Amino acid sequence: MKTSSRIFFNGFFPIVSSLLLTTHCLLPTATNAWGFYGHKLINKNSVFLLPPGMFGFYKTNIEYITEHSVDPDRRRYSLDAEACRHYIDLDHYEKAVPIDSVPHYWKEAVAKFTADSLNAHGIVPWHINLMYFRLVEAFKNKDKQRILRVSAEIGHYIADAHVPLHTSHNYNGQFTNQHGIHAFWESRLPELFSSEYDLLGEKAVYIDKVQEAAWMAIEQSYAALDSVLTFEKMLSQNFPDDRKYSFEEKGRMALKNYSEEYSRKYNDMLNDQVERRLRASANMIASVWYSAWADGGMPDLDKLPEEMPKPDPEQPEAPKQEKMIGRQEE
Ligand SMILES: [Zn+2]
Ligand SMILES: [Zn+2]
Repeated sequence: MKTSSRIFFNGFFPIVSSLLLTTHCLLPTATNAWGFYGHKLINKNSVFLLPPGMFGFYKTNIEYITEHSVDPDRRRYSLDAEACRHYIDLDHYEKAVPIDSVPHYWKEAVAKFTADSLNAHGIVPWHINLMYFRLVEAFKNKDKQRILRVSAEIGHYIADAHVPLHTSHNYNGQFTNQHGIHAFWESRLPELFSSEYDLLGEKAVYIDKVQEAAWMAIEQSYAALDSVLTFEKMLSQNFPDDRKYSFEEKGRMALKNYSEEYSRKYNDMLNDQVERRLRASANMIASVWYSAWADGGMPDLDKLPEEMPKPDPEQPEAPKQEKMIGRQEE
């Protein structure tokens, strides 16, 4: 690292130096669930799991489906209501799966806890189901714009539900002295190793109750949380401090991040966990798209009007601020 370089933490980096804490906080960051890279990869892979009646349409529009997979995270800089749609702190409710004390359906959950309380601890499983109904409606109405937009966005929320750290109030290791683990697991590892992952999942299947499937996904994520935190803690205690991080020159900046060696060790300890969660995300997304199409009457997707989606009404032209509102994931 050149001392003359300005130290710049990229979005995937934890705060390890109190000296530089202020610098980090002032800089805009770009990390979100699965990172932009991960979300795009997942949505893109989902397209290849679709049945013939859908594949052509999604393949034609694969660029839209891929690029707009990150719109929900972009909204987190401007829309107050957005943040809680991306996670649920299951540890607020119970220590381990199964999560029996939380009603799986929104109305019953509101009756038990109130909407304010649910929002305060995250609503991702319910938001997936809400998006599902929107997607079914879009298919029923043969509304190409909405089909594409909601498909891209439901893919985002489903992928978030597959991230173990999206099920905990300790979402960035801030209570266990592991600050930065969020982006380490969901951004750094896929960016380094996804070319080695086997991401070709199983073909889409019809899901009878998407709400239950969403709960299954987050409960599996929650069950995996312990290894995410414990393995990094173990590795960190047994790894030389001076090799834990690396610096990459980017122009006049030095980007600090977990070193490749450290990342590789962590990925190995996790025993393909990131790969499995990536694949499971794509499987569920394809199945949810397929189920919505089936529930929406299986419209002929080759006969939809040609125009492309208009801008999302929830998506402002420019973000209101540089930082995410609510939960920061970096
Ligand atoms: Zn995340
Ligand atoms: Zn997200």
